[in-house]
Amino acid sequence: TIGSRIELADGNKMPIEGLGVYKMTKPDELIKSVKSAYEDGYRLFDTAQMYGNEAAVGEAIKDLNVDRESLFITTKIAEENQGYDQVMASFEESLKKLQMDYVDLLLVHWPIHTHFFETWRAFEDLKKQGLVKSIGTSNYGMLHLQYLATKANEMPVVNQLEAHPYLSQQAMVDFDRENHIVTQAWAPLGRGRIFDDPVIVKIAKAHDKSAAQVILRWHLQRGDAFIPKSVHPQRISQNADIYDFELSVDEMKLVDSINHNTRISQEPEMVY
Ligand code: NAD
Repeated sequence: TIGSRIELADGNKMPIEGLGVYKMTKPDELIKSVKSAYEDGYRLFDTAQMYGNEAAVGEAIKDLNVDRESLFITTKIAEENQGYDQVMASFEESLKKLQMDYVDLLLVHWPIHTHFFETWRAFEDLKKQGLVKSIGTSNYGMLHLQYLATKANEMPVVNQLEAHPYLSQQAMVDFDRENHIVTQAWAPLGRGRIFDDPVIVKIAKAHDKSAAQVILRWHLQRGDAFIPKSVHPQRISQNADIYDFELSVDEMKLVDSINHNTRISQEPEMVY
């Protein structure tokens, strides 16, 4: 179900599916979306310093009035806040905005050249201090992770990547798995660009499901974690209603076949 968790390499358990809140700039809308998702069983909420809505997420979570331990909150350190002292100071701000004394997962939002290792050392220290339960990266490729491994004491347990049927990142997903890193797909729906794809439409019809549901089911069966975003209660519910059908091996292969390696985001910077 929507509440299912996957065990990370550090022993913590992360919900496989969560709600992304990028571009939810209106606090009221964000608060309603989080509430509606919570009622549907979502427990993971994915924000970032860069989204400018950590304070609204904090309000939304406070409004839920539930056990903090039942939730899984992710935030990300913005590029301009990388560096040891900058991570420490900006993370303290993030916690204040979130009205929390810890986050479940802290991610380096993008790999950048400056302060590459110092940033990670700050992450390791925040984890030691208990202010962050798990540490991870986002938009890191194989070479970034291999470079990080030359100095890291602990490796990321999650790598959040742009991944969807038009950018399947299969090699990266395999690499993460071999290194005990969970791949968490951002823009799992390809930001809506894949809904009209004939392959997706056909499979959706066959299962009496929506295109979005077929795409999320593909992620699930491939072993990804994923964080679709919507502000519409019906779509939020729909995106959680993917646990009662299964794509066949052939259908999985068909979805794999529409990959054409096109990114929404820019190519992550080479830092080594
Ligand atoms: P997404 O693939 O989740 O697509 C979201 C869009 O799809 C919505 O705006 C909506 O228009 C549409 N949609 C959602 N559900 C639908 C449904 N059931 N039916 C029809 N349309 C539907 O794209 P995203 O928001 O970019 O990514 C999800 C989350 O990933 C973000 O909110 C954010 O938390 C995270 N993210 C992370 C990074 C990163 O660099 N780490 C970058 C971008 C996004």
